[in-house]
Amino acid sequence: MTHEQKIERIAGELSRAAGQGAARFRKSSPSHQVPKRRGKGGGARVIDVSDLDEILELDVEGRTCTAEPGLTFDALVQATLAHGLVPACVPELKTITIGGAVAGCSVESMSHRLGGFHDNCLEYEVLTAKGEVLCCSREGENGQLFDMVHGTFGTIALITRLKFSLLPAKPYVHLVFEHHDSVESCLAAIEERVGRADSTFIDGLGLSPGNFVLCLGEFVDEAPYLHSYQWMRAYHRSAARMSEDYMTAREYFFRYDADCHWIGRNYGLENPLVRLLVGKIFLGSTRMLSLARKLPFMIRADKPEVVVDVFVPISKARDFLDFYGREFNYWPLWIVPYRIARPYPWISPEFLGMGGEELYLDFAVYGFRPRDGRNYFRLLEEKLVELKGIKTLISHNFYERQEFWRIWNRGAWDAAKRRTDPEGLFGDLYDKTHRRG
Ligand SMILES: Cc1cc2nc3c(=O)[nH]c(=O)nc-3n(C[C@H](O)[C@H](O)[C@H](O)COP(=O)(O)OP(=O)(O)OC[C@H]3O[C@@H](n4cnc5c(N)ncnc54)[C@H](O)[C@@H]3O)c2cc1C
Repeated sequence: MTHEQKIERIAGELSRAAGQGAARFRKSSPSHQVPKRRGKGGGARVIDVSDLDEILELDVEGRTCTAEPGLTFDALVQATLAHGLVPACVPELKTITIGGAVAGCSVESMSHRLGGFHDNCLEYEVLTAKGEVLCCSREGENGQLFDMVHGTFGTIALITRLKFSLLPAKPYVHLVFEHHDSVESCLAAIEERVGRADSTFIDGLGLSPGNFVLCLGEFVDEAPYLHSYQWMRAYHRSAARMSEDYMTAREYFFRYDADCHWIGRNYGLENPLVRLLVGKIFLGSTRMLSLARKLPFMIRADKPEVVVDVFVPISKARDFLDFYGREFNYWPLWIVPYRIARPYPWISPEFLGMGGEELYLDFAVYGFRPRDGRNYFRLLEEKLVELKGIKTLISHNFYERQEFWRIWNRGAWDAAKRRTDPEGLFGDLYDKTHRRG
């Protein structure tokens, strides 16, 4: 089926769904919205977009790729590496899709220079609820819409095609692990490294309140040895004790995939014997997420594990880490420097303040189990309001509606919605992303 025929089919589904309440999209790969005990997020009516998963054009000379939104990063990286290229932002889990990365704000270890995946996109084709096909680009046609489909979790329009930049790559990555014994030393090193702009990859791990490791990576043509993190070795454990490492470029991009960062350890998967015996069956973020959806009774409804990213201005990072050490004291904590080149219009300008800050740190919590009756998601939300930080909406959200719309930009969201979905087929952003505990 051609891309145009797929769009025609989906437009037909959209028109049949009109007037029946909010709908949600069904892709072929599992969602990386955190699985919940109840509710799938989004409406009851399903729009099948599972065949939108192909590369449409790989322009090696021009270093761009045009593809459908359900394409996974693993499939994309394999195709581009064959030409010595990679996308300018590769989220760390294999089956995150390029459409989901835009709608749900993906960032990774190249984000200190290049921002998130959306920041490296050049054009989107989107389908409105009425089946109208629109082309959007940052500076050109439908510029506001281009930016509003980012971070709004599919509530504005269905992205049906993306054109994005590629970068030259080499077959291997050399990593140097810089160990720091204090928050101050780690934050100073991040600022210095990001300021120098001479590292291709930068991310970090908080291992305890006085133990941080900065992971600095470069593409290289040759490697004296190669490590794999798909089975017996867990990447975060190696990073904690090694001073350097080599891996293939594909292995590097998905180094956190087998353990789903370190969520696997909550289910015994860090035990070497368990890994040896059943690791090949259970390791891998795709399997873990699919299993969690098939066995929802494994998820505690009253005290769900905290899996969430928060974006904090670097000037407030020290304050955040003090709070985090005191209230959560849960490690590792993933730390990703994230350059926001221009304020995103889906965030309220009043909330961020005039101009905002360019460098944020993404602190990602993976699998914290609440140790008492407090609502730890809410604790994070309250702290973020104080620090003018943003929480991704991928898991449990407890903002009050009015509070939420003081942080997210109601005016810009309403304006985009009037243009693409006045009857609310794609749902309301607050209703889609929030749940009561
Ligand atoms: C355990 C875990 C680990 C994670 N680790 C990382 C990480 O290492 N790096 C990182 O960057 N991110 C990470 N994430 C976050 C992830 O990038 C986001 O959740 C992202 O949105 C997932 O994309 P997906 O392809 O799975 O899309 P989905 O989860 O299926 O969709 C995400 C949202 O986008 C909407 N959407 C999907 N496709 C489209 C489309 N074509 N048009 C419009 N809207 C659409 C959906 O309706 C939904 O609201 C992680 C998430 C989890 C749960």
